[in-house]
Amino acid sequence: MVNNFEDLLTLCDKYDIAGPRYTSYPTALEMNDSKAREDRSALIASRPEQPIALYVHIPFCHKLCYYCGCNKIVSNDQFKAERYVDALIKELQQLGDSISGRKLRSLHLGGGTPSFLTSSQIARLMTAIECSFSKSQVFEASIELDSRSIEVDYINLLCDLGFSRLSIGIQDTDESVQNAINRIQSSEHIGDLVRRAKSLGFKSINADLIYGLPRQSLVTFKKTVDDVVQFGFDRVSLFSYAHLPRRFKAQRLIATDELPVGHDKLKLMLSAQRWLAQAGYREVGMDHFALPSDELAQAAESGSLNRNFQGYTADPDIDLLAIGVSSISDINGTVLQNDKALKDYYASIDGGLSPVAVGFDRLPEDLLRGWVIKALMCQFKVDKRQFAAAYGVSFDRYFASEIEQLSDLMEDGLVSNDEVELRVTHRGLLFVRRVAMAFDAYLSAKRQPAFSKVV
Ligand code: SF4
Repeated sequence: MVNNFEDLLTLCDKYDIAGPRYTSYPTALEMNDSKAREDRSALIASRPEQPIALYVHIPFCHKLCYYCGCNKIVSNDQFKAERYVDALIKELQQLGDSISGRKLRSLHLGGGTPSFLTSSQIARLMTAIECSFSKSQVFEASIELDSRSIEVDYINLLCDLGFSRLSIGIQDTDESVQNAINRIQSSEHIGDLVRRAKSLGFKSINADLIYGLPRQSLVTFKKTVDDVVQFGFDRVSLFSYAHLPRRFKAQRLIATDELPVGHDKLKLMLSAQRWLAQAGYREVGMDHFALPSDELAQAAESGSLNRNFQGYTADPDIDLLAIGVSSISDINGTVLQNDKALKDYYASIDGGLSPVAVGFDRLPEDLLRGWVIKALMCQFKVDKRQFAAAYGVSFDRYFASEIEQLSDLMEDGLVSNDEVELRVTHRGLLFVRRVAMAFDAYLSAKRQPAFSKVV
């Protein structure tokens, strides 16, 4: 972490331009309809020995959070989820023999709000998943929870169904901030959920926090971080609020004049980093913190940290199959996204068609650049010998012009470059996305407004 605050302010003014978060390379923006209705079965079947990571997207939420930029459907009609679970099961059946008997290494339920599903709905979904795959010896199931929509006993149900990791969206525990973002939740209840999960032996519990929300101050955010530490979360994701009201309609309900901006927002982030470090959390990749006992911190320490469409993971790089509306699969170099609108997704599934709407095949050049970008995002460095061994070319020769583009960052001490490695320095960690952008062949100035800034 960079300590000199004035120094950072100057660097932020210079380098904090909008850029991708690189959960994939190329980014999802490169998807096109050449892959529409692609049958994923053949792709999956091409590597029968490979284990699979399964992602299931649940788009429903009970209430609209004003900061939200996700693909979600706000509803209180539980019947909608019943119909949706039917569609997910049909999607699994469509994949049929290609997944039958394949080892399932991990399962993640994301959203939206996966805990929108009632106990019978989630149990039905899990039974269908279990019947479709065989579990690998190493199997982890994780789920995102909204504390407002569940009772404490829901944690027991998740435990019985085989879940061992939880992620709880907290964002901020201050009442005034919660009012401003329309996400009012009880800290006491969150504490109860975490305690129950720990007593049942859950391996890892993550808290999502957001800085830059309306009405946040150093005082309120310190209390939020203290609460999270006191609840005993193993991991903390600390995200920057990107106010893009033209793109996300819900954000128009946020009072712009209540937002901490510029240096005030930067102070929130730097202070939260410091408070988490003081509480014993280690910085993992970009925006993430974990206790040393957590698998994510250990993966960062050992150099095996990985990154995929769900963010940082300790899981190895394996095929990611995603089901549900708008979900993104990444199988053997091909990226495929399902229909983004629920009505289109239902029409595909009910019509017996593949729900894939867009996608792309990674080209050899994409794989090579993606390798470099992932190394920067996960290890903050590129080992030039490893690169040469993997791709048979010299890093310095192949990327001579990209290295040249980084000369300003090198002069400012944010990047170091020698014969062995290109490294983001301690002082430059905050700007890792900016470094990765130099290796992105698709990036153009006109696209940058589609991305958020670092701070
Ligand atoms: S932030 Fe999460 S819970 Fe809130 S509306 Fe968005 S997806 Fe739903």
